[in-house]
Amino acid sequence: MTKTIDLQLNAKSIADIKKGYPLILKEAALNPEVLKEEGSIIRLVDRNWRFVAKGYYGEQNKGIGWVLSRDENEQIDFDFFEGKIRKALERRESYFNDPITTAFRVFNGEGDGIGGLTIDYFDGFFMISWYSEGIYKLKHHVYGVLEKIVDYKGIYEKKRFDTKGQYIEQDDFVRGEQGDFPIIVKENGMNFAIDLNDGAMTGIFLDQRDVRQSIRENYSEGKNVLNTFSYTGAFSVAALHGGAQKTTNIDLASRSEAKTIEQLSVNGFDYEQQEIRVMDVFDYFRYAKRHELKFDLVILDPPSFARSKKYTFSTARNYPELLMDAIAVTEKNGIIVASTNNASFGMKRFKTFIEKAFNDADSIYKILEESSLPRDFRTSRDFPEFNYLKVVILQKTK
Ligand code: SAH
Repeated sequence: MTKTIDLQLNAKSIADIKKGYPLILKEAALNPEVLKEEGSIIRLVDRNWRFVAKGYYGEQNKGIGWVLSRDENEQIDFDFFEGKIRKALERRESYFNDPITTAFRVFNGEGDGIGGLTIDYFDGFFMISWYSEGIYKLKHHVYGVLEKIVDYKGIYEKKRFDTKGQYIEQDDFVRGEQGDFPIIVKENGMNFAIDLNDGAMTGIFLDQRDVRQSIRENYSEGKNVLNTFSYTGAFSVAALHGGAQKTTNIDLASRSEAKTIEQLSVNGFDYEQQEIRVMDVFDYFRYAKRHELKFDLVILDPPSFARSKKYTFSTARNYPELLMDAIAVTEKNGIIVASTNNASFGMKRFKTFIEKAFNDADSIYKILEESSLPRDFRTSRDFPEFNYLKVVILQKTK
C-alpha cells in the first residue's frame, strides 16, 4: 500500500477545481514539498485538509499535474483508465465510421478526463503523446487498455516532457507492426502522407481539419494562394482540391520542400506547377512587396514563437505586424486566413491584433468565419484556455 499524499491548495484553486477546472497550478500548492515522485496519485485538499479531488503529479509547462476525479472513493487504476478511454472512443464513433477521414484525435487530454495524454489515430496506427514524466509513469495502464479494447496495426509514442512540451529524440515504435512509412491517410477524401517515426512532426496537424475543409470549399476556386509557414503544404493541398489556380508555399525549414512535394504528389498534383520556397516569411514579404505581387488568398499559420537568423517572432507580440505584411500582398476583396495556436491569449485579444493591423495599414476588413478546435479535439466549454486554436477568416474590403 502506497501512502497517500495530501497536497493543500489555496482557496482560489480549490474553488476553481470544484467548478471543474482540471489543472493543478504550481503557484496554488501550499505544501509542494510533499511532491516527490512524478506519477504519484495525490489527494487535493483545502486548508482544513478536506478532500476536494484526486489527481496525479506531473510537471508540465503550465502546471504540476491534473485532476482526475472528484470522487474520493474512485481508484485511479486500470479500470479508471479503461473507463476514460472507452468513453473517448465512443465519442469518436462517427469518425471511426467515416470512410473518407482516417486520421483524427481519439483522446484529447483533460477534455477526455486525463490531462497530459493525447492519442491520435492514423488509419489503424495509434500515436500516443506523453506530456509529462508523471503521465508517462502511468503508461502501463494506457497500453494495457489499448491492448484490451482496440484493434490496432501498430502503436507509436512521442515523449514531450523535457521542457515546454518539446519532443525527446527516441525510438517512437512501441508495439504491433511497424508502419511502412509514409502511410497515406485520408481527410475528407484528401490524401496525406504520414510518418510516425520521424520526430515530433507527423506530416499533418490534425487540429486544422475544419480550416482545410473551409479553405477548400469556400475560398479556393480559381484563386492565387500564398501559404506562409507552410510546413508540408497541407493548406495548399486543400486549396488545390478546391480548384486553386496556383499556390506559393513559404517555409524556412529545408525539409519542408521535400515534404510539400510529397503531399502534393500523393494527391496527384504536379508540384512543378506550384512554387515552393525555403525561405524566411519576412524576407518573402519584402520580396513580394518589391515585385508588387498580390494574392487572392493569404494563409498565416505561424508557430507561437520563432527565431530565425534575422528575426524573432512571437505571436503574442508581433501578430499585428505579420498581418500588416499579409494585408500588403492581398488583393482588394482577397481573403486572409489568420491562425494561431498560442494558448496564452484568447479569441478576444486575437481580434484586437487584427483590428490593430488593419487600422495601422489603413485598410478595412470583414470577418467571414471564426473557428477553433474541431470536435475530436474535445475541450471543456467552461475553460476556453484549453481550446488553444484560434482561426479568423476575413476579407480585405479596402
Ligand atoms: N501551417 C502549417 C503548420 C505550420 S508549423 C500546416 O498547416 O501544416 C510552423 C512552420 O513555420 C514550421 O514548418 C517552421 O519551419 C516554419 N517557420 C518558423 N519560422 C519561420 C519563418 N520565419 N519563416 C518561414 N517559416 C518559418
